[in-house]
Amino acid sequence: MIFPACDPPRYRLGFGLERHRSCRANLAEAMADRGIAYEHLPDPINFFQNTPVRPDGTIAYGGASVAKPGDKVVLRALVDVIAVASACAMDLTGINGDRLSDIRLTVHES
Ligand SMILES: [Zn+2]
Repeated sequence: MIFPACDPPRYRLGFGLERHRSCRANLAEAMADRGIAYEHLPDPINFFQNTPVRPDGTIAYGGASVAKPGDKVVLRALVDVIAVASACAMDLTGINGDRLSDIRLTVHES
């Protein structure tokens, strides 16, 4: 929760790319019919991102995830929720290792 989603400005300003997929755009598209303005979209919980806080308070960025294939997070919603997930599209730094990968989501109803 300490690192924002990748977004179109990051790809445009950092890499000169106008049409690169991004987590924030994925969220905006998924939430388009919910009436939530782009600027009000929440920042993500980065379950598998490796962005530790250094002793000086800065955030280390660009280290590959330490998650292994098959690692998982199980969440239990105690109230009705809208959950959106994005497999990060950042392929221009090392933050996703040497390749992008899909994620699998399973929703169980109690
Ligand atoms: Zn991303």
